[in-house]
Amino acid sequence: MDKLKAVIYDAGHTLLEPRLKAPDIWDFLGTRLGIAFDRTRAMPNVGVYFYRNVMGSYDSDARARGFWNSYYIKAMTEAGVDEAGERLKDAVNALYDWYQQPAQWRMFPEVPEMLRAVRERGLRQGIISDWGTDLIPLLHAHDISDHLEFVVASATVGTAKPHPDIFHNALARAGLQPDEAIYIGDSYISDVLGARAVGIRAVLIDRERRAPEVDCPVVTSLLDVLQLLEP
Ligand SMILES: [Mg+2]
Repeated sequence: MDKLKAVIYDAGHTLLEPRLKAPDIWDFLGTRLGIAFDRTRAMPNVGVYFYRNVMGSYDSDARARGFWNSYYIKAMTEAGVDEAGERLKDAVNALYDWYQQPAQWRMFPEVPEMLRAVRERGLRQGIISDWGTDLIPLLHAHDISDHLEFVVASATVGTAKPHPDIFHNALARAGLQPDEAIYIGDSYISDVLGARAVGIRAVLIDRERRAPEVDCPVVTSLLDVLQLLEP
């Protein structure tokens, strides 16, 4: 990749993953609502919910919160909760705030080595993420920011993946041409198709090998991308 100047990452499930799992969420909401939920109950498929209903809804903090609140209310309703009122809204709002705290997220283990290795190759690094404006303090808290030259959070720029505008915004900010960057993300639709639509090469990270066969490079660790960066 002769022209390559920058590696750009998605954030959620590419660099960072939530510590909270479904049982923690049932416990949290159950405590708030005074209901004993079955902790082993599965949450609704969030990807299906997202792409069916509200793709693009990360273009403001209010809409990001609104998406998650509606998703949790759907989960509660499916679990038999009949609380359409303020109490349920308060509970899902509180859950959203809890979930956003930096302590509730962790880096994937290879992230520090990846960020160092890419920097040592003389490449620039940035993030394009569908996230609220609270992505910045989260990245600071996890010591990721020092490696980055730019961070474009959808709620900050008012446009979300896979819309071309969020990718164009990042390229313009970094002074990069599309063919000078490679983008890594865990969503084929938002990340691969979004990046490719503006001419950025894309790599799918599929840590648990769950994706069907797709028409782009697929890695199970960020470090596997290093081989793709060689000229
Ligand atoms: Mg992601």
